[in-house]
Amino acid sequence: MSPTPEMEPCDNCDSCKGFNQSRSYNIHELDAASNNSVEDIRSLIEQVRIPPQMGQYSVYIIDEVHMLSSAAFNAFLKTLEEPPRHALFVLATTEKHKILPTILSRCQIFDFNRIQVQDIVGHLKYVALSENVFAEEDALNIIAQKADGGMRDALSIFDQVVSFSGGRITYQQTINNLNVLDYEYYFRLVDGFLRGDIASSLLVFNDIIHHGFDGHNFVAGLSSHFRDLLVCQDPQTLSLLEVGASIRDRYQKQTTDCSLEFLYKAIEIASKCDTGYKQSKNQRLHVEIALMNMANILREMQEKQALLNAKEHLQQARVSNALQASAIPNAQPTAKTQEQASPSSTPSPEKSSIRERIIGNMPKISDALSGKPLVNKQEAQKTENPTSNRSKPFDEKQLDSAWKTYRENQKTNTRLYTMLGSWVVKKIENELVEFQLTNRVQFDQFDSYREPIVLFLRDVLENDTLNARPVVAEAPKKKTLYTQSEKYGFLAEKFPLAETIRERFKLDL
Ligand SMILES: [Zn+2]
Repeated sequence: MSPTPEMEPCDNCDSCKGFNQSRSYNIHELDAASNNSVEDIRSLIEQVRIPPQMGQYSVYIIDEVHMLSSAAFNAFLKTLEEPPRHALFVLATTEKHKILPTILSRCQIFDFNRIQVQDIVGHLKYVALSENVFAEEDALNIIAQKADGGMRDALSIFDQVVSFSGGRITYQQTINNLNVLDYEYYFRLVDGFLRGDIASSLLVFNDIIHHGFDGHNFVAGLSSHFRDLLVCQDPQTLSLLEVGASIRDRYQKQTTDCSLEFLYKAIEIASKCDTGYKQSKNQRLHVEIALMNMANILREMQEKQALLNAKEHLQQARVSNALQASAIPNAQPTAKTQEQASPSSTPSPEKSSIRERIIGNMPKISDALSGKPLVNKQEAQKTENPTSNRSKPFDEKQLDSAWKTYRENQKTNTRLYTMLGSWVVKKIENELVEFQLTNRVQFDQFDSYREPIVLFLRDVLENDTLNARPVVAEAPKKKTLYTQSEKYGFLAEKFPLAETIRERFKLDL
């Protein structure tokens, strides 16, 4: 009746008193969750037409308005469009997206957010103080987190804990009471992961299960623990950490031991475990595997790094050797004399020129086409390079099994694997291996396969003078052409010009 200058209620007039005592006729509440039919809305519309007995407005609060059926919504639309002067509607919902756009467009929208954990804790502190209840801050934090942004829930949980703990709320009592897993477990687990200690993490998990906790909740808790450690890594995201002050220090301490990569990996494993949990037949094992993987993260990272280092090292060595070889083309004799002078001082020049030799020895396609014999220059060089480390003789059978192993290694690349399977591999002379290829295209592309094959065979057969030469196998007449490259090979054979064009324009299939 007489609002304050800030448009707040006066709390003195009949209207305010009526509202405060929940007996105001100006305020009507409808729970749309249970009154969601067209009939319910019709009777509401009837009611809306009646002007208030006292005051100027009638306020209609429709809770859970998204629960209205679409027919009810449509019946309501007309009243919303042209409401009587005295009617005010308050539509409340947690799911705004379910409201028809035509309704939304007629509303003023106010978004309410979840209450922050700190704010809930602040309010609970105030309640505890005025009710003369002693409460540890960590305990209030747990309650606030459990309430998930709702003050009403927070207060009812608080109430429950107070009645169990008899006026003294401690952290330990609260987590026991609310069936919340102690932070301590997570800290211990992560310490174990960082040590690579699989056994201890399995034991901790066993302990957790014995205390009656659900594995799925545990995984979710562990995920958020990693998430909390992650937000501690960056001062910018530190504000996203919603834990009590005493535990905050522990997070900050533990996060200094974790690398970002470790945390990313751990979160990934945890979330995979979380999503797969319900489908798993043996859920305990499912979690245990995730724990083992987490305890292995650092070890795997180290191994990967070592492998990378080794690869880089090898690559650098190759590049510098290749540079040396190309910079001084005539250096070999000198190198040889040096080698003769001090045979063990320099690493074998053989290795350094592997690449050069392989490339240098490629038989020219035109030679092959014109029917020139495919003589491998390697044969000639072989005698000039007596510096090879290994020259173990091998027979057809050993070659065969080495080749099979190589092929098996390529199994992940189905296309390559099939192609290698179509090749016939034969030992021609002492160290020369002939690869009978299916068609000309393979022959032309043999360069790109040669190096890994030759290096592999040399290693397995312990013979560094081994070399490879490609030939195109005599294609049986009237062979069915299946693959693109087979078809192309057939065409190229029939029309040599096609191959010339392919070469000149650097085309590939
Ligand atoms: Zn008043």
